[in-house]
Amino acid sequence: MQNFLQDIFYRPLRDLRISVIDRCNFRCTYCMPDKEDSRQYSFLKPGEWLSFEEIIRLTKLFVDCGVTKIRLTGGEPLLRPNLVELVGKLREIPGIKDLALTTNGFLLTQYARALKEAGLDRITVSLDALDARLFRQMNGGKGNLQKNLEGIAVCEGLDFDTIKINVVLQKGVNDGQVLDMVSYFKGKKAVLRFIEYMDVGNCNHWERRYVVPSREVVDLISARFPLRPLAAKEFGEVAARYEFVDGGGEVGFISSVTRPFCGTCTRGRISADGKLYTCLFASEGVDLRAPLRAGANEAELSALIKNVWQNRTDRYSELRTKIRSNPEPAHKVEMFQIGG
Ligand code: SAM
Ligand code: SF4
Ligand code: SF4
Repeated sequence: MQNFLQDIFYRPLRDLRISVIDRCNFRCTYCMPDKEDSRQYSFLKPGEWLSFEEIIRLTKLFVDCGVTKIRLTGGEPLLRPNLVELVGKLREIPGIKDLALTTNGFLLTQYARALKEAGLDRITVSLDALDARLFRQMNGGKGNLQKNLEGIAVCEGLDFDTIKINVVLQKGVNDGQVLDMVSYFKGKKAVLRFIEYMDVGNCNHWERRYVVPSREVVDLISARFPLRPLAAKEFGEVAARYEFVDGGGEVGFISSVTRPFCGTCTRGRISADGKLYTCLFASEGVDLRAPLRAGANEAELSALIKNVWQNRTDRYSELRTKIRSNPEPAHKVEMFQIGG
């Protein structure tokens, strides 16, 4: 029996993003920049990750609380051993209407078909440039543009409900790529989504001057390929969608900085070590792994989840300017720890 939970601002819990690993084979400058000095990131050990059994148990409880959409993320989720098996297990849970995954694309040619066959509905691939040098520069010299494009092409040959291409734009870095990317993807099955660079975590040393407001990107694209806005398909839709007037498909814009959408935020997030976060910009999560491993039963775990959501007050993006004016910057969880 599903319970429909609401937080303090009457926002339901509908989406759950599950980070399956905090490690990554890329070092994107806006997420996990390669450190200049010898200090390394400290990643979780495999024994600290939630096991597949623990993920399945928690997911069932979240579905009972109203979640219908699951997204697997990371770090790089395709680095988690046997991920395809997890997708198959999640697919068997009644009540999940949408099962998606976000990947940096490096291992996609290897896994796309198996993921689809295991029951994945939708896939999102990150791709910040079509210029091979810039692409590599933005992912810390780790990626290979050709491999990503081949991975996307493989996905287009499979029957995914949607394929989205996430592009994080940074002023003076890859904003010159917008029209090339639109020309390349227009009319293809894969749909571009331009994302405003966000101040998630602390390690990217975000500055507002590097944000490219989505309005500017809409205007730039529209001048060459006229666009018209599309109505949201559902409550809590993150991207503002536009369609090409000439019928060349659509394009989305995620504008967390210039047009915050906290009012309809229905997303909970679980880190790879089982902490529940109720906002991308949170400092702390609530540990679900400790009670799981201490033998808590379903009712106890469920009560914990409900209590967290019912007391949720997060609206960071709406309060960004005020929060950031605090001289003591808050410690925030990193993007690679909880996924996008
Ligand atoms: N590694 C996978 C990938 O890159 O697709 C999944 C995890 S990644 C953290 C999820 C998404 O967050 C990616 O599309 C990435 O581009 C985006 N992202 C990471 N840091 C960001 C930032 N500071 N601002 C906006 N988007 C960001
Ligand atoms: Fe890795 Fe994704 Fe972060 Fe890039 S954005 S460093 S691919 S987790
Ligand atoms: Fe949701 Fe937090 Fe983003 Fe607002 S800032 S939309 S509450 S994740």
